[in-house]
Formats: sequence, C-alpha cells, structure tokens
Amino acid sequence: MNTKNAWDAIIVGTGPAGATVARELAIRKKKVLIMEKGKLDYSIHIPSMLKNKEMLYIGKGKTLVRGIRTGGTSVLYYGTAYEPPKEYFLQYGIDLSGEFDELRRELPVAPLRDELIGPSAKKIMQSATGLGYPWRKLDKFIYQDKCAPGHFPDQAQWNATEYITEAIEAGAAMLNGADVKRVILSGKEAVGVEYIDSGIHQKVYAPKIVLAAGGIASAQILNNSGINTPEGFFCDPIITVHGVGDGIQAGNEIPMAAGMICKQEGYILTDITLPRLVYKLFTAQALRFHRLFDHGKTVSIMVKVRDSLGGRITKKGNVRKEFTDQDKRKMENGLAHATKILEHAGVKKIFRTAWTAAHPGGSVRIGGAVDSNLQTEYDNLYVCDCSVLPTEWGLPPTFTLLALAKRLAKRL
Ligand SMILES: Cc1cc2nc3c(=O)[nH]c(=O)nc-3n(C[C@H](O)[C@H](O)[C@H](O)COP(=O)(O)OP(=O)(O)OC[C@H]3O[C@@H](n4cnc5c(N)ncnc54)[C@H](O)[C@@H]3O)c2cc1C
Repeated sequence: MNTKNAWDAIIVGTGPAGATVARELAIRKKKVLIMEKGKLDYSIHIPSMLKNKEMLYIGKGKTLVRGIRTGGTSVLYYGTAYEPPKEYFLQYGIDLSGEFDELRRELPVAPLRDELIGPSAKKIMQSATGLGYPWRKLDKFIYQDKCAPGHFPDQAQWNATEYITEAIEAGAAMLNGADVKRVILSGKEAVGVEYIDSGIHQKVYAPKIVLAAGGIASAQILNNSGINTPEGFFCDPIITVHGVGDGIQAGNEIPMAAGMICKQEGYILTDITLPRLVYKLFTAQALRFHRLFDHGKTVSIMVKVRDSLGGRITKKGNVRKEFTDQDKRKMENGLAHATKILEHAGVKKIFRTAWTAAHPGGSVRIGGAVDSNLQTEYDNLYVCDCSVLPTEWGLPPTFTLLALAKRLAKRL
C-alpha cells in the first residue's frame, strides 16, 4: 500500500458520507482506496461494542453509540430519512436541492405504507393526533416491496454497505482493519495518511484525501495531525419512554414510522421499537429489572433533543460532554409530551431510560475547520461526514450527509 500515486483519492471511513464519495468517484473511473477501521458486522454485542469504542461513556451515566464497521453507523441506524429546510445550507452558500432530487431517484425514500406501520406505532399516532399533535409519517430508507406486515428482513433497510459494494464493483479497492491515525502533511498539502493494520504502522499516498471517519474520529485524526478543529460538538441526546400497552403485540416493528419535529422547541418525538437486546440494556440501566421480559408488549416513544455545541474529543478518541440546563429543559419538555401521549393511549407502568446519544457531529463544522466546499486549510484535504454539519442538529442526519457527499464528489 506504500506505492505513491497508485490512487486518485483515499476515502477514510465507510459510513453514509464516505461510502457515497467512494461510490461516486469510482463510478467516474477514479482510482479510489477506501480505508475502514472495522469489518462487516451486523451484530449487536454489547461487550464487543464497548471494546471497539462503538459505545462511549460521555460522563454522568450517559453513553454515545456509533458504528466502527463497514457501513459505519448506518448498519445500526433506524433508517429514517429527513430532508432539512433549504435555508439550513443556503446560508453557507450550499444548495443541496439537486443532490436530494438525485438521491430520491436512487434510494427508496418514502413514508411507510399503512399496513407496514406496527401496532404500537399506530396506537401512538392515534393518541398523538387525538391530542392535536402534528404527528406525521416519516420518510424511511426502506425497500417496502421486501416487507410485509410483521416481516421486515434486515436487507429491506438501505444502509451504506450498498454504496460500498457498488464502489467496489466500479473498481474501488477496500482496506478493512486500517485504523487511520494521522494525515501526512507537506507544506500546504496533504500527501497521504498513516495507519495501523494488524499492529503494523503503514503509509499510503494520494493527491486527494477525504476524511469520513464520523463525528468523533475525523476531528481526532485532524487534531492528531496538528490541524485545529473548533471547540465542542453535538450528539443529539435521547431518552426513550416505555410503558405496557393493553393486549398489544409489539416488539417487532419498523421503528420511527411517525413522529413530530418541534424545531422551535428543539426536540423530536417518534415511536420507537428497540431491538430486544437494546431494550433489555436500557431497561436494566433504568433499574427496571422486572420489566426485562416485557419487550413484546412495550409501547415506546423516543425523545431526541437538539443539544448545544460543547464538550471535547480527546486525542485517544474518547468524548466528554455535559448537557446544559437548556438541553435538560428541552428534554424535560419533550418527555412531558411523550408521557402525555402514552397515557392518553392507555399505556401503563411508564418509565424512562437513561440519556444516550446517537449522532455525534459538528466537530469539524462548515465555517469552522472546513469551508463550504468541505475543504480544510490544506488544499487537497476534505472532511465529509456528520462532523461538518455547521451547527446544532437534533434531526436524522443521514439524508443530509448523503447529499453533502454527492456534492463533494462532483467538486473533487
Ligand atoms: C441506534 C442509531 C439509530 C440511528 N438512526 C438514524 C436514523 O433513523 N436516521 C438517520 O438519519 N440517522 C440515524 N442514526 C445516525 C446515523 O447512523 C449517523 O449519523 C450516520 O451514520 C453518520 O454517518 P457518517 O458518515 O458521518 O459516519 P459513520 O456512519 O459513523 O461512519 C464513520 C466510518 O468511519 C470509520 N472509522 C472511524 N474511525 C476510523 C479510523 N481511524 N480509520 C478508518 N476508519 C475509521 C467507521 O468504522 C465508520 O465506517 C442513528 C444512529 C444510531 C446509533
């Protein structure tokens, strides 16, 4: 891999953003090397996730989840697509409308057909709309023709491994197990990256380098290369509220079928069916051991908050973050509405889980460490992943990341 000039571009990371850039460049016949720290893995095994730093402790009993595997966090995600208002990016001179149109043609982005919405999500939607809340179906990245009521095979949900497969089919090379540590700089240019593979330090070179290692690792790699990033990040903390539904057959549903996005208030509420193991973990964390086996009759709402930028990412890639009083107030407001909706639905024995978070980002933000072309202060070094989102977020980010990545690939 030491050969100079063997590649037109190196892409670090295979989450939604990295996979998209890699695929777009490979289709354009560029020689692309994709470097991925993890391997292909669909399992949820908590001890391994802790060991691989896919679950990180952020302080005061709170955790953060991300995927270190081929496909990145999209292998673990809930497949909700959200197109942000145009103004979010127009103010930075970025118009993503063409990219969103392109993505809607390429990917299965649509709200679920009624019959694919599970019983607990329906119960919540009826209760919320009955109370006058603007509860609407959400767009999903789901091949609905592969689903039937109560039957949702894993392959029915789009994730970034599909774009990686297409990139490889178009000629890209993929290096799994490559833990990229640092960008190699020479004057005003980035010339390559240093990485560790099976304990051995190695280097690889290319005229264009795109860091797409996610909201934590891209900032870490830049910092370890001597490139400054702005202070703080967001992580969109969540709490889930659970209760027992009367005679309901829950537990096997497409999560986040519908919800409400309260932009002004800074939170979103959606139905949520957690994977059984995650439900058990959250229930144990909340010390509700007697509820560990209630997964099949549990009706749940997720409250996700748009938290302020803050906290820090360490050189070793650990994170520390304290939520502000404002963040906590937003969460309490969201939880009050979630509880009201569940109670109105006749759901009993309601409890809430501990704080966790699933969208680290904003750590290499546009207008901070990258410009509106996602370029760093080094001419040929780009960052494209959740870290470049310009400000607090609080929304499903994947659709936006795919659009930003398509735009970057055109400019490269
Ligand atoms: C449980 C859960 C549910 C979610 N549900 C949704 C949802 O419904 N809708 C939505 O839009 N979003 C959702 N998300 C968030 C979404 O998955 C992420 O925001 C998105 O995947 C981020 O994409 P990314 O390209 O920025 O980075 P990631 O997907 O995190 O990918 C980063 C990649 O870089 C690799 N990497 C990291 N460090 C290195 C290194 N040193 N060297 C080489 N490679 C490295 C990783 O292995 C990974 O492949 C969810 C997240 C979680 C945890």
